[in-house]
Parts: sequence; C-alpha cells; structure tokens
Amino acid sequence: MRIEVDTHTHTVASAHAYSTVLEMAKSASDAGLKALAITDHSTGGSDAPHIWYFHNLTKAIPRKLFDVNMIFGVECDVIDYNGNLALASSELERLDWVVASIHGNYNMAGGTIDDYTNAYIGMAQNPYVDVIGHPIYPAYKPDYEKVVPVFKEYGKFVEINESAIPRSVKTINNALELIGVCKKYRVPVIVNSDAHFCMSVGKFDNALKMLKDNNYPEELIVNTKWENIKAHIESKKGKVFE
Ligand SMILES: [Zn+2]
Ligand SMILES: [Zn+2]
Repeated sequence: MRIEVDTHTHTVASAHAYSTVLEMAKSASDAGLKALAITDHSTGGSDAPHIWYFHNLTKAIPRKLFDVNMIFGVECDVIDYNGNLALASSELERLDWVVASIHGNYNMAGGTIDDYTNAYIGMAQNPYVDVIGHPIYPAYKPDYEKVVPVFKEYGKFVEINESAIPRSVKTINNALELIGVCKKYRVPVIVNSDAHFCMSVGKFDNALKMLKDNNYPEELIVNTKWENIKAHIESKKGKVFE
C-alpha cells in the first residue's frame, strides 16, 4: 500500500518543529509523495505563528516545490467543549486544508468523556474542517461509537496519526478501537506523519501496519490517491492545482 500525500506536517513556524518549508518539500519529493500539506499550529498558543503567516501562506510559496504539490493549511486548536476553533471562519476559508485537533491548551484538559464527545461532534459540524486530528490522545478521548458516525455524516476524514501512535499503550489501544469503529461504519481515514522534522515526512509505518493488521479496507484510506485529496480541495475552492 502506498500513501501519495502527507496532509499533516509542521515547519519552523511552529516553535517546537525544526525544518523549513523547502526542507519539508524536498523530503516529500525524496519519499516519492505527490503532495504535501503544511499545517502549522493556529494562533493563540505560544508555539504558533502570527495570523499574518496564514494570510500570506497561499500567496508567498509556489504551488509546486521539487515536483510536489503544496497544500497550505493549519492544524487548528479546538478551544472549548462545543468544538469551536481558535481561528475564525474568515481565516479558515483562506486556507486549503484544516486539521482540527485538541491539545492541552485552551483549558481543554480535565474534561469528561461526554465533554470530549461533545467537542468532537462540534468540530465535525464545522464546514471548514477537513480532518479530525489525532482523536486517540488518552486525555481527550471521546466515545468513538457516538462521534465516528457523525464524522461520516459531515464528510470528515479521521486521522490515523503516525506520531501519536507509539506514545503509550493507551494511544495504541485507542487507535485500535478507533480503527475498529471506523471499519464498522465504513468511515474514511487519512494517514498522516504529523512530522515535526523533515526526515519524518512520508513515514507512516506504524499507522499502515495497524490498518493492515486489522483488515481496514484500503479503498477507505483516502490519501492513498492524490486525486482524492485534490478533488476534495478543489470541490470547495475551485481549481487550485495543475
Ligand atoms: Zn496535534
Ligand atoms: Zn500536528
């Protein structure tokens, strides 16, 4: 199985990542990817760029670097248990791609499973969100049986995040449970590196093994085909790529 697009990566614009856009694109090319999304953290956290970074993102950088199609997006923080996001709709609509994720900031820690279930349902209902980012973090685990059908209803891709899987036994167990529920409801997943350094771009070994070992249908892994991602972006933004 081959993944053609890595749709969740960070550059030096996120203060805890270590490569430039050019280095990330070169690594994507070396890994044989057809496209790469740059998704630095949304503003508000101390590790995130200024809002002007996002205003300029789709204008300043060529659409193709080293023959890799460049997708310009954000990993946007969820800021409350209703699933509201750190960036306004007017900011999100400038971008090609939105991964929405819960992290330990914005007072999102310490909630109940019902709080996180509610937050994930709110994220799913936001029309600007493309990907539900790493919903396997143990501290913010929702009820998968309740949220996964909602992800499907609103056309969201559920992320199987390579970086998050090996963190603990709990994240592995959550990933296994999530894959099982996605398989049951035939919900498309997207496999992402969440690379914070260029050498991790296009590396998905843990995620792919987990999907294969659990007989997850390959045709539901959306980023095995660049055409799937291209069509998704262009359906909302018009023609973007060559
Ligand atoms: Zn994240
Ligand atoms: Zn990330």
